Amino acid sequence: MAALRIVITGEPVLHRRAAEVVEIDDEVRTLVADMVETMQAAPGVGLAAPQVGVDARVFVFDYTDSDDVQWRGVAINPELLVSPPPVGEPDVDLDAEGCLSVPCERFALSRSDRALLRATNLEGEHFEIDAHGWLARIFQHEFDHLEGVLYVDRLQHPHSKAAAKAIRKRSWGSPGQSWMPGEDDLEG
Ligand code: ZN
Repeated sequence: MAALRIVITGEPVLHRRAAEVVEIDDEVRTLVADMVETMQAAPGVGLAAPQVGVDARVFVFDYTDSDDVQWRGVAINPELLVSPPPVGEPDVDLDAEGCLSVPCERFALSRSDRALLRATNLEGEHFEIDAHGWLARIFQHEFDHLEGVLYVDRLQHPHSKAAAKAIRKRSWGSPGQSWMPGEDDLEG
């Protein structure tokens, strides 16, 4: 197992629909193990394959909710059924979302409070999770990655403008940029 470099917004693989996984073979098992290590090193609560430069419909997640329940796993070829998002402005604190491909930045985005995930695990078994709250947000965020959508693409004024400015300021938004969890210090 090895942590992988995380690609930054502007890398084409982040901005197009990822390919279905045809067979769960050793290559997929290694990818998932490396993604878990990368997510832990980052650290993050979710990571999608395009974020490590791989064109595949796979994401991993590891999140402990307020009831101390740990939700961890891998979703291969997922489907996501999402309830309608709330209306009105997002809360600047409660709805502040981040992404390892737009590192060190957070912007407020309204998300649905409920999402039903249907996917396949590494053993090839189908599973379903009826997610609420932040877990539902994680699933929406990671599923979006597989559709080529970043959360910054979904922001509304004035957060969209602030995000565009931050991305410009850090000279992101063009291909070829990445960072190494556990090694690169991106703060500031
Ligand atoms: Zn992300």
